[in-house]
Amino acid sequence: MIEEVLVIGGTHGNEMVGVFLADYLKKNPYKAESFTVRSLIANEEAARLKKRYIDFDLNRAVRAEEARGSHEERVVERLQKQIHKPEKTLIIDLHTTTANMGVTYILTRSDPLTKELIFRAQRGQAGEFVLETKELDDKTHFVNTMADHGFMIEVGPVPQNYLCTKSIEKTWYTLLRIFDLLDKKNQGLLPSLKGNFNYFKELSFLDFPRDAAGEIQALLHPNLIGRDYQLIKEDEPVFYQLPDEPIYEKAASGYYATFINEAAYYEKNMAMMLCERRVLSEEF
Ligand SMILES: [Zn+2]
Repeated sequence: MIEEVLVIGGTHGNEMVGVFLADYLKKNPYKAESFTVRSLIANEEAARLKKRYIDFDLNRAVRAEEARGSHEERVVERLQKQIHKPEKTLIIDLHTTTANMGVTYILTRSDPLTKELIFRAQRGQAGEFVLETKELDDKTHFVNTMADHGFMIEVGPVPQNYLCTKSIEKTWYTLLRIFDLLDKKNQGLLPSLKGNFNYFKELSFLDFPRDAAGEIQALLHPNLIGRDYQLIKEDEPVFYQLPDEPIYEKAASGYYATFINEAAYYEKNMAMMLCERRVLSEEF
């Protein structure tokens, strides 16, 4: 049974939807019957400076050797102190993306409760997707893994540092839906649900063609922009160069792409994430 839901915004300081909603929840506490809701802004310093992070991506910093000595290592320590009963806490970490990913629930763990909540929340919702990361649980360094239960909500397309009303609304109503589901789950009021659940599994990332100095040499093909979660066919160009030269990319064909042209990923050498579509047959 979950006793506390921790809604985290500002894991990335330039994603204002989460920062806004964490602040909103603090001022307008949500009253559930079976759990408490607390919210906090994770990387306050980065949010104040309107930057994704100060020294190191906070959402890759949990248990990460490379984050040693960084501002974000101290943020992780501060957050950890906020989680009093990890086994009874669910973290919902709010993000936005510049890619056209609608509402994406990102599953980074094998925890059955997290899985159930995500798949129940997404069920029957147009424009909502479940995406499972390549590695799970302790192999990852995501903020939501600081408690025993948790996931991310990624909403887009939203420009960085943009207070997007529609996305705030979308994220808010998604949160309310999850709160309601969890309240019923805690009280044993959810009817069992059996079926096939579609989701996307992360396989790899594809980078832009780059020159020896690492500069991007070709753009994403205009036909691909906004086509997250759609199949890339063999005869489809993936990149292109001005004025009109299509570039085909064998490595991408046959996969479903997402995080297409995510602005935060240029520095990570990623033009898109390549996924496979999978089906989970389950009874919750
Ligand atoms: Zn983010």
